[in-house]
Amino acid sequence: MQQDLQQNTSWLLRETELSQADYPKHESLIALSNGYLSLRGGFEEETMQLGHAGTFLNGFYAFHPLHYGEKYSGFPDNSQVMLNLPDPKAVRLSINNQVFSLADGRIIHFERELDTYQAHLQRRIVWEAPQGEQVEITSVRFVSATHKQLACLRYDVKALNFSGTLKLTGLIALDRHNLSREDDPRVGVDFDEPPYQITATTQHDAILAVQGTTRNSGLSFRCYVVHDFSGGESHAIWLEHSDTQYGLSCQSTLQQGETLTLTKYIWYDCAENEQPIELLQTAQAQGFEALLNEHRAWWKDTWQQMDIQIAGDESLQQALRFNMFHLTQAVGKDGYTNISAKGMSGEGYEGHYFWDTEIYMIPFFLYTSPDIARQLLMFRYHTLDQARARARELGHRQGALYPWRTINGEECSAYYPSGTAQYHINADIAYAIRLYYEVTGDQHFMEQYGFEMLLELSKLWMDVGVFDPEKDNAFCIQEVTGPDEYTCLVNNNLYTNIMVKNQLEFTLSCCAANFQLNEPTQALAASFDQQLAQSIVERIYLPYSERLQVYAQDDSFLSRPIWDLAATPRNKFPLLIHYHPLTLYRHQVCKQADVVLAQMLLSDQFSLAQKRRDFDYYEKITTHDSSLSTCIYGIMAAELGDVEHSYNYYIKTARTDLDDTHHNAKDGIHAANMAGSWMGLVYGFAGMRLHQGSLKFAPKLPQAWQGYCFNVTVRGQRITVSVTPEQVSYTLQHGDDLNITHHDEPITLKAQQTTVKYL
Ligand code: BGC
Repeated sequence: MQQDLQQNTSWLLRETELSQADYPKHESLIALSNGYLSLRGGFEEETMQLGHAGTFLNGFYAFHPLHYGEKYSGFPDNSQVMLNLPDPKAVRLSINNQVFSLADGRIIHFERELDTYQAHLQRRIVWEAPQGEQVEITSVRFVSATHKQLACLRYDVKALNFSGTLKLTGLIALDRHNLSREDDPRVGVDFDEPPYQITATTQHDAILAVQGTTRNSGLSFRCYVVHDFSGGESHAIWLEHSDTQYGLSCQSTLQQGETLTLTKYIWYDCAENEQPIELLQTAQAQGFEALLNEHRAWWKDTWQQMDIQIAGDESLQQALRFNMFHLTQAVGKDGYTNISAKGMSGEGYEGHYFWDTEIYMIPFFLYTSPDIARQLLMFRYHTLDQARARARELGHRQGALYPWRTINGEECSAYYPSGTAQYHINADIAYAIRLYYEVTGDQHFMEQYGFEMLLELSKLWMDVGVFDPEKDNAFCIQEVTGPDEYTCLVNNNLYTNIMVKNQLEFTLSCCAANFQLNEPTQALAASFDQQLAQSIVERIYLPYSERLQVYAQDDSFLSRPIWDLAATPRNKFPLLIHYHPLTLYRHQVCKQADVVLAQMLLSDQFSLAQKRRDFDYYEKITTHDSSLSTCIYGIMAAELGDVEHSYNYYIKTARTDLDDTHHNAKDGIHAANMAGSWMGLVYGFAGMRLHQGSLKFAPKLPQAWQGYCFNVTVRGQRITVSVTPEQVSYTLQHGDDLNITHHDEPITLKAQQTTVKYL
């Protein structure tokens, strides 16, 4: 359990003591965003920056040249890095000329609280200055869920035991920068020169504006801040400008008991068409409270759709809500941005989007807010041309190859064995398209976008794979990396091959569907070799060991020596930091679920006995060094009937960030794992699977819980599933009859009726 960021209810993360050591981690945990603009959770005061402040715009990046000792064809020239931009929430406060800083004086009261239900962050401090003046400082801020470029901050200072002069400065801090590279391949980047330039700083009465342009990616940003001062007497207001700060100061005389308030209305965007000044004036006229209420109402509606209740476990209830909160606030909702591996809470993985989106996060959005899932797939559609170009760059004559990691659609991975070689991203995207279509029935999406992507994704495999005469002409895919990054560049990764089979089957079924296609997609479909696709489906090679009776992760995996995990010192984990990649690749040791993931995703293609054998085999050699792993093992443990084992995995998954179990929450939250905690409950304990378009449930209840309840939306119809120690009830909120199964028993749900079954 967290020591200092305690919860009093499951919606809150509360801190009652300042811990400098934990400050950087808390900056990530209590970051606020709306999928477009993000403010890390640090203090407002310039004099109290104890970690690494961050302000990000989703999709706003600079290129960073990749340097290779030896550069070969097709290696990307540049990475893209999400930029840390000028910080609009900064303030500076002095009381009778003494600068407020918690490093001086005496802290009488300290309290900071993230409310995930209302999506705002508040802080209250009572502080005594070295000369004895006491002030109460309260701040509240939020990043608006209803106006994507808007964030608001209210900062109040009350003179408790004195009358005197307060000086409050609202600042835009201009000296923020990205982390530089640490001793960890996952964090930081060293730019040779600042990645963006400030091109203008302007004042329009109480509005200060800063504009900037990146040096090499052609992107511009604008930050406009209204400074609204109130309270006290005889205000003097003046501009402050230096290389590092641009601000508006207000000096005021306060009588004991009076309060000086600064309200900031912040507009941040990528220089789009809107008129920030007019829009900010409208926001100011509306007022802080009204804007906050609007924002809260959005979150209230969203919670109604997605909340999951767990009875009898406050700690996991808190974790699950915290995770859903971060996912919802971090996801790009416009079809041109996506959700990065760290959400928008930190600079880890440089803000890149991975397969994490399709395999881990889309299920959460799809079953709770299907429109967001659609937008995530639209991001892939909007970057299809880059994927086509990338396939050509790698020598493929047809198809599209999506980048392993990216912001703008181009490949960013510098280390190809565990980057570009993860061709399975193509099959993952296809899997998510299929899931989206089966869950929503959105044929329009398929006709306009989905099918076109699918055809390109499928054509690629025809170019990559071969019918291998050495393997009885089975269809083989050589030299790829599967999900497990401790085993790279292999032939016939089971996960990749079976996902390709699933993809081609789906593509063939779409070819036979009666889609109304535009001309280019018709032409693409006509050039798709259905016969070849059919033979690949029939002849795809799935490596299997008759000796061990398990699926092999790849052709040679089971021939390698087994890594002795029991004899590996605890301080050598994660292994990737301590061992040369080749040492890892030469052993049977897994960073994350691979075969077991394939069996979770394509559950109905394997017998239960097979899944049991494979789970037992791979569990022993899996380190879970990637946070994408425990949720998958937990789900499969539940499917195999071991609920308590699943529950142990669940605790690890759900509290990864709150308990900082990977010791890197300071670089950002683990978004895929967060979505894994949603899957862990819905796919794991409730056993939900989609089979031929209809939902199957097999609910179980961990002993420690008294029950749980969640909603899922399929084909626009919302089902509430509620599990108690005795029974399961399924309620269809509205719509037509819906067929589901409960532990293999078919049931027809009727609108506004509840069907009850024994657990
Ligand atoms: C995992 C990948 C994942 C990436 C970003 C890595 O540690 O091995 O599977 O995509 O993190 O979350």
